[in-house]
Amino acid sequence: MRAGRDPAAVRLVAVSKGRPPGRVAEAVRAGATRLGENRVQELVSKRPLFGPEVEWHFIGRLQTNKVRPLLAGPVALIHSLDRPALAEALDREARRLGRVQPVLVQVNVSGETTKAGLAPGELLPFLRWAAALGGLRVLGLMTIAPPVADPEAARPHFRRLAELREEAAGAGIPGLRMEHLSMGMSGDYPVAVEEGATLVRVGAAIFEEGEPLGG
Ligand SMILES: *Cc1c(COP(=O)(O)O)cnc(C)c1O
Repeated sequence: MRAGRDPAAVRLVAVSKGRPPGRVAEAVRAGATRLGENRVQELVSKRPLFGPEVEWHFIGRLQTNKVRPLLAGPVALIHSLDRPALAEALDREARRLGRVQPVLVQVNVSGETTKAGLAPGELLPFLRWAAALGGLRVLGLMTIAPPVADPEAARPHFRRLAELREEAAGAGIPGLRMEHLSMGMSGDYPVAVEEGATLVRVGAAIFEEGEPLGG
């Protein structure tokens, strides 16, 4: 592949938000094994329609009062942990259920004021604290690049996230496993893969253009 990386090292999250269950089922039959949703209500209503062949990924802004319904069923990975109050709510609910919830920490690399995510300077202290919470397993970082026409414009943001992962991995934080970089969407995922993405979150390119699925 163009990025010269092992294709098995990059996993596809098929973003099924807003797509009707019939279309999602088609994608699953075509090989999608990870589905991404950004609203709890929608994930919760689709979750019972599929069996354990599907992993659910939550990729949107998460309100603390939605933590309970979200964790009432399996959630393979929450990509969007972006603040201490949410970490506390997830930790509390996961421990109540006797589970350990895998999460990624969302970083606002581009510094857009409207965007969720921790500032890069807040990341290490947050990771140090969150990695010690018994109900969470922090597995990496996530970012959303600003929407622009030229995918190359996203490259510095993806590169910065990869650097932050290296820094965090080298910080000697007990319990932290910096396995994943969740970055890249329909418009920019090839660039994200070149910069080290392990999870790409692709919606439109799958559901609107019918690209072949894999990974
Ligand atoms: C919608 C969404 C995606 C997928 O976007 P596409 O442009 O449809 O590929 C990826 N990540 C997040 C956080 C989203 O909300």
